[in-house]
Amino acid sequence: SPTRTAPPLRQSYAAAVPELSVPWRAEAMPDPRMVLLNQDLARELGLDPEHLRSPEGLALLTGATDLPTTAQAYGGHQFGSPNPHLGDGRALLLGDLVDTRGQQRDLHLKGSGRTPFSRAGDGRAPLRPMLREMVIGEALHALGIPTTRALAVLTTGERIQRHDPAPEQGALLVRVAASHLRVGTVQYAAWTQEPDVLASLVRYAIARHHPAAADAEVPALALLEAVAEAQASLLAQWMCAGFVHGVMNTDNMTLPGESIDFGPCAFLDVHDPRAVFSSIDRGGRYAYGNQPGIALWNLSRLAEALLPLIDAVPDAAVDAATAVLEGFEGAYRTAWSHRMRAKLGLREDAPEEQVLDLGAELLDLLAARGEDRTEFFRALAEGGGAADPALSAWEARRLALAGTSAAKRAASTARMLAANPVVIPRNHALDAALDAAEGGDLAPVERILEAVRDPFVRRPGLEDLETAPAGSPGFITYCG
Ligand code: AMP
Ligand code: MG
Ligand code: MG
Repeated sequence: SPTRTAPPLRQSYAAAVPELSVPWRAEAMPDPRMVLLNQDLARELGLDPEHLRSPEGLALLTGATDLPTTAQAYGGHQFGSPNPHLGDGRALLLGDLVDTRGQQRDLHLKGSGRTPFSRAGDGRAPLRPMLREMVIGEALHALGIPTTRALAVLTTGERIQRHDPAPEQGALLVRVAASHLRVGTVQYAAWTQEPDVLASLVRYAIARHHPAAADAEVPALALLEAVAEAQASLLAQWMCAGFVHGVMNTDNMTLPGESIDFGPCAFLDVHDPRAVFSSIDRGGRYAYGNQPGIALWNLSRLAEALLPLIDAVPDAAVDAATAVLEGFEGAYRTAWSHRMRAKLGLREDAPEEQVLDLGAELLDLLAARGEDRTEFFRALAEGGGAADPALSAWEARRLALAGTSAAKRAASTARMLAANPVVIPRNHALDAALDAAEGGDLAPVERILEAVRDPFVRRPGLEDLETAPAGSPGFITYCG
């Protein structure tokens, strides 16, 4: 039960690898106010929601206590170009704690002011993208997809200038994550630090996220393998949900394999491998269909950074890492077919190759017909028939892999209803709700949050989240 008032926050990362972060304090905020508090997540962390709303709670959430807080260093490849000096330019680690389920979680602030890593940035975050991050995180979580989540969004009382001519409200996101160890964290250690720092980082990452790797013959190689498996599974889940992350730079990919830092992200309406939503992704590097390949590219950068710990003989290290990376595609296909089995209500023993073919053919058909993915999958789960000859041939094959007995049919339908959401946070509805919130009306965002947290139930009044608007124009989102 959530009885704690002051959470036992530790700085376990700074204690284990002090070279990779700096002690730093949040800037004072003129008028911090709670906008949205994630009560369920607070309780999961062992925190009392009422306390978090109190003056002491607000002080904790805004970094205005004398608890030590840190800014983490990291580097990374951004749109393919290496940059050794990124880091928390507008973020701070409040610390880590063990939640009510025994899991170690980070509490992290985004929008907490300038740090030594800010470069030209102002250290601030506008309200709309922070609310967007909360909605998307809750939506992914409800779909069963590993993700960082927002504990709270606050306004700071400041006005900040971004894309619009008019200044926007400044905000603070309090983020909960399995950790903030990024591929770019390992790159930073490999690129800028002594070899023992990289070794300490790898020991910490293994102990925290992939403890079985500690007993492997080559722990760094086992870590690479565990991260590759976690990412293969994550990417398969994004792809089956039609999710586009938007900025899959290596600093936005974490070792525990949670979704993180999804600024210009979106759920697809119509299936389109080339779909891009980010205003800054002009080359389409992070288009929907490129995501699994980009994940493997990022894992290859992780492997490069780990090479000195894999084998003292460079060629041997490369061979060993390459063998691990070659497992990514198979792991991805297995995870994708597992998810597609549930979405299509197929028997558990339906052969992987046939599931892959059936799923891929369906997505091609939907793309050719311009049909909404989420709506189609849900209609299939709810027993909607296929009028079109191409689709009815496909449906006959699906039914053969679903099983024909009445019991098999019932089980198949139950699985499909639990795997295919009615609602997703559709771009147009979400964007309108974020504009309303900026104008002071939170009700539309609260309505969307409530809907995406319970996405498998059909309820009246959510049509804008169930269907794409007819002839919807292209949609662009911006980084925070
Ligand atoms: P992101 O695009 O949020 O993944 O951030 C990429 C890098 O830019 C990270 O090092 C961020 O900390 C930094 N950054 C983004 N926005 C700001 C800002 N407003 N002020 C300072 N640093 C920022
Ligand atoms: Mg980032
Ligand atoms: Mg960021």
